Amino acid sequence: MLVKTEELRKYFKIGRGQRLHAVDGVSIEIEQNEILGLVGESGSGKSTFGKTLIGLHARTSGEAFYNGQRLPAKFSSEDHLHYSQELQMIFQDPYSSLNPRMTVLDIVGEGLQIQGKHTRTQIRELVAQWLTKVGLNSDHMSRYPHEFSGGQRQRIGIARAMIIEPRFVVCDEPISALDVSVQAQVINLLDDLKKSMGLTLLFIAHDLSMVRYVSDRMAVMYLGTVVETGPADDVFFEPQHPYTQLLIESNPEPDPKSERARSHVPIKGEITSPVNVQPGCRFADRCPKVMEHCHNTSPPVVSTSSSHTVACHLFA
Ligand code: SF4
Repeated sequence: MLVKTEELRKYFKIGRGQRLHAVDGVSIEIEQNEILGLVGESGSGKSTFGKTLIGLHARTSGEAFYNGQRLPAKFSSEDHLHYSQELQMIFQDPYSSLNPRMTVLDIVGEGLQIQGKHTRTQIRELVAQWLTKVGLNSDHMSRYPHEFSGGQRQRIGIARAMIIEPRFVVCDEPISALDVSVQAQVINLLDDLKKSMGLTLLFIAHDLSMVRYVSDRMAVMYLGTVVETGPADDVFFEPQHPYTQLLIESNPEPDPKSERARSHVPIKGEITSPVNVQPGCRFADRCPKVMEHCHNTSPPVVSTSSSHTVACHLFA
C-alpha cells in the first residue's frame, strides 16, 4: 500500500470557540498504481482531505502514511521540499491555479528549479518534452496563461505536477471547470500518464459516472466522513449506503437523450453545516431510511464483503 490515513481530522477555527469539522476521522488505503475516486456533494470535505493528506493543510489529529512512513502533522518548509518530489496536486481551477505573471516555462519548470538539480538548459528541455507529452508544444513555453483555453491551462497544470515525476498525485476536480468536449481528453491524458509512469492517484470529483470510469475503487464522503468504499463498479451499480444511492440516482446521465427521459430523485435538503456537528449519523436529517437511533448513535463501519464497506445502522 502506498498511501494510508487513520482517523484523519482537519478542523478549522472560525471564531467564538466554534470549529468547522471539514474532515472528521477519514481512514482510507490506496494501493500502488491504483486510482481511488473520492465523490460527494460540495462541502463534503473532499478537497480539504486531499490537501491535508499531502501536507497543504496541517492535520488536526489522526495519521497519514506514505510508502510506510508517517507524514508530519504539519509540514515544515523542508518537508514540503522533500515530499513535493513524491506527492503532487493538480488543482480544480485552471484559471486561478496558474500565476498570470509567469511564463509557461517558469510555471512548468518551477518545481525543477526549486529542486536545484538541473541547469536552466536541462529545465528548458524537460519543459519542452512535458508540453509535448500533455498535447501542447514547445512554442508555448514563452507564453502566459491568459493566452490559453481552459483545457490547455489544465494541461499546463498537469505538466507542472508531472515533470517532478511524482508517485502519488491528488487530482482535485481536474475536469469540473472544463467543457464536456475537453473533459474526456484530460481524463484520457491522466489515464495514459498513470499507466506510463506507474502513478497512484486520488481522483476527487462530483461527477460519479466520470469517477467510475477512471477509478479502480471509489470512496463516498458525506460531511467530513467516508460512508462507503468499494470497487468502483460495485459502488456505482450496487450502492449500499442510502446517501450513495441518492447521489447516484441524482447523477445526470452522460447521454442527453436518456437524461431527458429520466425522472430525477433529488436528495432532500442540503448538506448540513459542518460546524458543531451533532451526534449520530450525519445523514440522518436527509435519509429516507432513518431510524430513531440514527439520531444519537454514530453508525459503525461494516464490511459487507471482502472489498466493500458501509457506515450505516442498516448493515450493523
Ligand atoms: Fe440513514 Fe440511519 Fe443509515 Fe444514517 S445510519 S444512513 S440515517 S439508515
